[in-house]
Amino acid sequence: MNYEEEEIETLLNYIMNNDTNRYGSPPASKKEIEKLNKYILTKEKLDNFGIENICSVCKEEFQIGNEMLDLPCKHYFHKDCLMPWLNQHDSCPICRFELKTEDEDYEKMKIERNRNNGSSNNSEQNIRV
Ligand SMILES: [Zn+2]
Ligand SMILES: [Zn+2]
Repeated sequence: MNYEEEEIETLLNYIMNNDTNRYGSPPASKKEIEKLNKYILTKEKLDNFGIENICSVCKEEFQIGNEMLDLPCKHYFHKDCLMPWLNQHDSCPICRFELKTEDEDYEKMKIERNRNNGSSNNSEQNIRV
């Protein structure tokens, strides 16, 4: 392996590790999931969906009688599709709206991140190559 390849690999490893820190989000809090709007799909509700009647997780059309789950961002999914997702992620599969998690450190990090929004992030400059 030549030097350049080695360097690229180190860099890739760094990026990958850094990605997990930045985007590897803990699952949504069980309490938050409890609070979500759950219901059985009725004809009226289905008519209101209009053309947005496809579940983004399984790509199947919603049917009357389906168990549904709404997110606060007004996106809706089959309950059975969304639950496994929320057990691994804290955000809406469509718009990345973030639910609360049970991970205090992560919540603090989120607040920090929002506070730093817009201002440049200097941590990049600390990379030792
Ligand atoms: Zn589905
Ligand atoms: Zn959403």
